[in-house]
Amino acid sequence: MFFLLLAARLTLVGIYLLVTEIMFIPFVRFITGSTGQVISNLRYNKKHKPKELYLTNVRHLAKKMNMTYDKPVYVTDNPLVFGPFTNLFSRKIFFPLSDSEILSGTEREFAFAHELAHIKDAPKFIGEMSLAMVATWAFITVLARFAINLSAFIFAELAFIMLAMSFVMRRNEARADSVAGRATSSEDGIAVFEYYEKKVKGDGSGMTHPSFRSRKKRLERLFDPDQHQ
Ligand SMILES: [Zn+2]
Repeated sequence: MFFLLLAARLTLVGIYLLVTEIMFIPFVRFITGSTGQVISNLRYNKKHKPKELYLTNVRHLAKKMNMTYDKPVYVTDNPLVFGPFTNLFSRKIFFPLSDSEILSGTEREFAFAHELAHIKDAPKFIGEMSLAMVATWAFITVLARFAINLSAFIFAELAFIMLAMSFVMRRNEARADSVAGRATSSEDGIAVFEYYEKKVKGDGSGMTHPSFRSRKKRLERLFDPDQHQ
């Protein structure tokens, strides 16, 4: 009887882990930036090789941020790549050609600093993501004691994991903005967000990113620490 209970419990734990694992897969894409950008970029790159530019200021910038970045910046003319992004697995920074032509040198520097911050803080980000997974696991373990309805259980789990992931991802963006603002200039950062605000014709707010408005506000506060709220 005891072993039967143990086996049942272990099976239940197995199912929980499997469910969390399955739900985790769609979120893995956010770790590498966004799947759309990564996949379309990989496909596009086969035909149109991105230009590898050894922008010395990026290396210099990395040094200033106490890290090394010895790769080129991959400048792509893929129209589906909407903004700079980093593939955290390959540690490569991609930059749209059109943006690189419009943004000024110092504005580009802020954008690079933001991407470098993602590379530098990747261990922190992965740690926080793992914590979100542990929190979800704890949540569903407690929930399993009360939930009667399976679909309600799955819905609650999904809602919890989305909230936890979103919190970690938005926090990661905010942190990269602050790091970039300190390493370069927060005024350039504000100009960059104003540019993207016009480009995407929206407030940029979503599951992975805070709105441009709040990102600009954060940089303003960095620029003038006396200004609260
Ligand atoms: Zn970012």
